[in-house]
Amino acid sequence: MDNTIMIVDDQTLNLRLLEEVLKDYTVILAKDGEHALQILEGDNLPDLILLDVLMPGLSGFEVIKKIKDNDKTRDIPVIFITGLKSVQDEEEGLNLGAMDYIMKPFNPAIVRARVRNTLRFRNQQKMLETMAHIDGLTEISNRRNFDVILNREFKSAVRNKRWLSLIMIDVDQFKHYNDSYGHAKGDVALIKIAKTIKSCLKRSDDYVARYGGEEFAVILPDTDEIGGTEVAESIRQAINTIKMEHKKSKGDPWLTISLGGYSCIPEHSQNEQRIIEKADICLYRAKNNGRNCVEWEQSVK
Ligand code: GH3
Ligand code: MG
Ligand code: MG
Repeated sequence: MDNTIMIVDDQTLNLRLLEEVLKDYTVILAKDGEHALQILEGDNLPDLILLDVLMPGLSGFEVIKKIKDNDKTRDIPVIFITGLKSVQDEEEGLNLGAMDYIMKPFNPAIVRARVRNTLRFRNQQKMLETMAHIDGLTEISNRRNFDVILNREFKSAVRNKRWLSLIMIDVDQFKHYNDSYGHAKGDVALIKIAKTIKSCLKRSDDYVARYGGEEFAVILPDTDEIGGTEVAESIRQAINTIKMEHKKSKGDPWLTISLGGYSCIPEHSQNEQRIIEKADICLYRAKNNGRNCVEWEQSVK
């Protein structure tokens, strides 16, 4: 894993020395605390911060407080690298949430070893975070992540008075499929269906999750009924095109899906649960209409 390290120090010589010591990594240099915080406002966050304590302007202790107070940067590990030698200073640094504390003048091999250990911890932590929102079978987002993303998109649509569409998808007669071909084949079919749905999403903000069992959900920000039904139809057809054999199906002899969609420009007083309920009602209608079809409802409220 290519890791990025931000080094914060007011002495150019120290920056250069540390950059050389850590030349195996991508390094971002910041000449003081304000500069470091400015970089952390951007999108390219480092995996580790090496932070000097005594600097003009904000001290390293003040900088780490701001880093730990911000949800976006809280989990980035900080190592103090400082000329302060008292035990009290070291204690204060660690109490403020630093992972480690290195005294200057530093030994390059020790810096490299401590950086390596801290990054190993950080990379494991990031992997666990990723696994926590990925569905183990299909490797797309799971329900927990769906809840977070729908809430975020709902708020954003309210704020910007933009359309938001949700598609609920349910595999048709999947119980029969499991009964005919076995649960393992059923699992393989779900993986294929997840992949196929994903391949139909074209915009970077379009999002798919496994909602549960043989149900999937697609969130389409900035999309009204016309755009939403187009995506839903393309997903339905894509599943029909791959023709996963399902001889016991009452309709076509391959696996199909039913889709229910709902579009609205949500208002502050509502919540995203309502959107799920509306899309679910449409899905139910699609099932009643003979399956392998799309049902949609749109509301300006
Ligand atoms: P309908 O067309 O009305 O949706 O019928 P259905 O059989 O798909 O619906 P039902 O809710 O009766 O059955 C869903 C089936 O999906 C039953 C369940 O065993 C299967 N299922 C849910 N999760 C998994 C899974 O992870 N793997 C497999 N193989 N099957 C699953
Ligand atoms: Mg179901
Ligand atoms: Mg089903």
